[in-house]
Amino acid sequence: MLNKKKAPPDPKQSKILSPKNGLDNFRLGFGMSPKCPAVYLKTFGCQMNIRDSEFVTGLLLDDGFRMVDSPEAADVIIFNSCSVRKHAEERLFGNICDLAGLKKKRPGLIIGLMGCTAQNYKDEALTKAPMLDFVCGTGNEKDLPQLVGDILKDRCRIVAADKVNEKKPEPMPEYREGTFKAYVAIGEGCDNFCSYCIVPYVRGRERSRRAEDIIKEVKDLAVRGFKEITLLGQNVNSYKLTANRSPLTAKTSDFVRLLEQINSIKGIERIRFMTSHPKDASVELFKAMRDLDKVCEHLHLPLQSGSDRILNKMSRGYTQKKYLELAGDYKKTLPEGSLTTDILVGFPSETEKDFKATVMVMEKVGFDSAFTFKYSPRPPARSCALKDDVKSEVKEKRLKTIIDIQCKISEVRNRALVGKTLEVLVDGHGGRDPHKLTGRTRTNKTAIFSGDGKLTGRSVNVKIGSVTPYALLGRMA
Ligand code: SF4
Repeated sequence: MLNKKKAPPDPKQSKILSPKNGLDNFRLGFGMSPKCPAVYLKTFGCQMNIRDSEFVTGLLLDDGFRMVDSPEAADVIIFNSCSVRKHAEERLFGNICDLAGLKKKRPGLIIGLMGCTAQNYKDEALTKAPMLDFVCGTGNEKDLPQLVGDILKDRCRIVAADKVNEKKPEPMPEYREGTFKAYVAIGEGCDNFCSYCIVPYVRGRERSRRAEDIIKEVKDLAVRGFKEITLLGQNVNSYKLTANRSPLTAKTSDFVRLLEQINSIKGIERIRFMTSHPKDASVELFKAMRDLDKVCEHLHLPLQSGSDRILNKMSRGYTQKKYLELAGDYKKTLPEGSLTTDILVGFPSETEKDFKATVMVMEKVGFDSAFTFKYSPRPPARSCALKDDVKSEVKEKRLKTIIDIQCKISEVRNRALVGKTLEVLVDGHGGRDPHKLTGRTRTNKTAIFSGDGKLTGRSVNVKIGSVTPYALLGRMA
């Protein structure tokens, strides 16, 4: 039971502390009921945030908490946040503010914010959302159980966001959400400082995990029956090996060397990775993708813009020509491989000519799919100093144009697969038709087909009969 005698935190009298005490204090705060405190954790954002939520869930479970799947059943509600797009951030604060009623009914309820938005706003988040009890920055997540314990003990509000450049402790907790697919972070942070991006500020400077820690984690996952792993990093292909470097492969890039080592782990069937930066992508990487049997033939290579002028203002570190060369090399090396991208329209000063250059690159490359976004200034990113001068309706129109173009290209790319039989790792029932199975091809395309739910987690062959821009429809071969 929560201690309801104590007053809920008053924003005007909030104490800003560093976490210092453990679950013992938490238990004291609860009057030491044998019942484990219940936590509801809601995740927004990218794969890295999903992995961070798993990490924190593992810590909490190891520390005697239990997880629940509704805010109403929770003693502690945590939001793992994303700040990369303005829209996501607005939705996040909307969700937190929606809890005002619940907090009023149950003043002992603890509500916290972790992740990118927590790191970005720090104590300002307490003002933006007065019902928050704590703000836990990206590097402080390892202290989260202690932090909740401190709140229970002191009934104060806590902001812990002073460790943005720290590595997570090894070994990571064992907890995983799935049973056959897992994310494995190989590094965190970014040194690129693309002008529109806040990641280097909220995730800190680039730091790679030690190869032996990654290998051990993947081996453990393989023993537990996991078949597919996705290596994660803000800039995965700039991974820097800090151990296990063999003199035989000293000329090989560190990321390729890591792929080689993981490829030899028994039990793992598929290896994916994201996100790659064009300036660190190379023919050597594409050849490794071709030659290492478990590495899937899918590359996500963000283009952002096809205009050299805009790429320069974005500080992306490559030109249109360089990107087209890379895409050409990839397609030559892996003709059956898929290539996906991110595109950002409406960057400050983007003209119709700049936008047409982006469309030209899209058509020339023929991406399999694209994540498309409208620019919005994200403080403290450097582009905030530029006038956000592309009108909202122009951004909207450009976004719609590239979505329509990509839709057509995706359909053409998918149509080329009709009649082919592809290996699909089954995710289970889902999608629009709950009676159908869905799964992913090695090229990361969604396949939909009839089959038994018992096939979930297994690889099957599917003959493709028809397609949409978003999926391949077929039957088991
Ligand atoms: S490479 Fe650029 S866009 Fe990607 S995380 Fe780093 S700064 Fe952000």
